[in-house]
Amino acid sequence: MRLAHYEPLSLTDFPGRLATTVFTVGCNFACPYCHNPELVTVREDTPQLTEETFFAFLERRRGKLNGVCITGGEPTLHADLAGFVERIRALGYAVKLDTNGSNPEVLGHLLETSSLDYVAMDVKAPPSGYSEMTGNPYALVLAEASIRLLAESNTVHEYRTTVLPLLFAEIDIDNIISMLPPGSLCHPELHRYQDPRPEPCPCQRFCVRRPRSHCGPHAPALPSPPHQHTKRHLGSVSPFTPPVA
Ligand code: SF4
Repeated sequence: MRLAHYEPLSLTDFPGRLATTVFTVGCNFACPYCHNPELVTVREDTPQLTEETFFAFLERRRGKLNGVCITGGEPTLHADLAGFVERIRALGYAVKLDTNGSNPEVLGHLLETSSLDYVAMDVKAPPSGYSEMTGNPYALVLAEASIRLLAESNTVHEYRTTVLPLLFAEIDIDNIISMLPPGSLCHPELHRYQDPRPEPCPCQRFCVRRPRSHCGPHAPALPSPPHQHTKRHLGSVSPFTPPVA
């Protein structure tokens, strides 16, 4: 695993758990609002955390923490993720995976082997804008496959969407929710991303932060916005059902 760093304690990343959150490096998407851009590609200044340092921390916190949230970047890009999860579980921690849903093969294996206690999958955009939002032409078909796998699994999961008011209309949110199967153990929570800059890119498309190829020469090179999220719960696809013990 290529790890960047960890947050020793989170009360919010893993519902119902006192958790530590570990961040992996590398992502196959290029979301314009990315909140962890330093983790998307490996650069000279990308922080590096060794597995041994992380597991030494987990050993010390046994009995005090009871969950580990693996986030990124995109954790499923790492070929040794299954072994990493297994090693965490062997220490007695529950495991939550945050994923962009782009690797149904890896996700499916982890679900089949009951290696995960919780999955949070980002649903990035309505179907019509999925490729553009993520910068990945295969993102929609991969996300749909991951949603099917989650719906068929017994693993507790939720879907999340970062809402950019400049780019999303209410109909977009409706279209995102319509991608989620009714009756599955899921509850879409939408994160409202607050961009403090007054003007979006003049082309008014998915390029709030990074100019895209369609923007043309007018597109400004915009600085990174501060990391601000607030949660807005928009209701449930179906009543949330806690996991069976
Ligand atoms: S999937 Fe997550 S880490 Fe990857 S670019 Fe999008 S917001 Fe950033």
